[in-house]
Amino acid sequence: MLRKSKVSEVVFIGTSDAFGAGGRRQSAILLRAPSGGVLLDCGATTNSGLADLGIERDEIDTILISHFHGDHFGGIPLLLLAALYEDERSAPLRIGGPPGVEQRVRALCLAMGHPIEGHEWPFPIEFEEFPRGREAELGPVRVRAFDAHHQPDSKPHGLVLGAGARRVAYSGDTGWFDGLPGEVAGSDLFICECTYATNLFEYHLNYEDLLTRKHEFDCGRVLLTHLGAEMAARRGACELETADDGDRFRL
Ligand SMILES: [Zn+2]
Ligand SMILES: [Zn+2]
Repeated sequence: MLRKSKVSEVVFIGTSDAFGAGGRRQSAILLRAPSGGVLLDCGATTNSGLADLGIERDEIDTILISHFHGDHFGGIPLLLLAALYEDERSAPLRIGGPPGVEQRVRALCLAMGHPIEGHEWPFPIEFEEFPRGREAELGPVRVRAFDAHHQPDSKPHGLVLGAGARRVAYSGDTGWFDGLPGEVAGSDLFICECTYATNLFEYHLNYEDLLTRKHEFDCGRVLLTHLGAEMAARRGACELETADDGDRFRL
C-alpha cells in the first residue's frame, strides 16, 4: 500500500561516502511527499537500510539517480528483485536520472546477474531522463536538475524537487562550483554532500569550504550527508548540521 502523508518528510536511509565510513550506509534518501514517495539515490546498501528502518519498498513510486556511481545507483538491481519476489508489487516504478539512465540501469542489472529482460515484471518499470534546463513533473514531484562538478563520465547532477509547497535541494556528489548556491537558493531544505573535512579532492565538497561559504546559501536548512571517515567521526558536533542513518526531518 502506498503511504500517503499530508506532511512531507525526509528520511535518511544512508549517509556515508562510497566506502561506508563509520559503519554507515551509502546514499539513499526517502522523500515522503504528499503525492508519493521518492527515493533520492539508491546506494548498494539500500535494501538493508529500508529493512532496518522498517520502510516498505512499496512506498517508493520513483527513484531518482543523481549520477552513475555505484554508491548512488548500485542498489537498484536487488531492489527491483525484492520488489518482484518479496513485495509482489503491482504499482509502476519510475526510475529517473541523467541522460542514458535506461541503458546504464539495464547494463548494471545484467552485470549483477539479474537482467531486466530475464523476468516477467508484474509492475511496469518506466525510465525517464531529467528534463534539461527546466522544471518538469517526474513522478510525484517537480524536478529541476543541474550539472554538478564531479567525475564527468558519471553524468553528475544536483536536483531541486518541488513537493507540495516545499522545495528540497540535493547536491548529489559535487566539488565546489560558484553556481551552486544559486542553483539551490530558495529551498526549504538543502541536502548537501560533505565528504571531507578539508579540501582533499576537487570532485567532493568539504566542511571547511562549506563553513566559510555558508552565508552564500539562501536555504531554510542545510543538512550535510555523504560523510567520509573524518566527517562521520565529527557528525553531530559541527557548526553545520549533519545527517545520520535513520534521521527523519519534517518539512
Ligand atoms: Zn558518492
Ligand atoms: Zn560519485
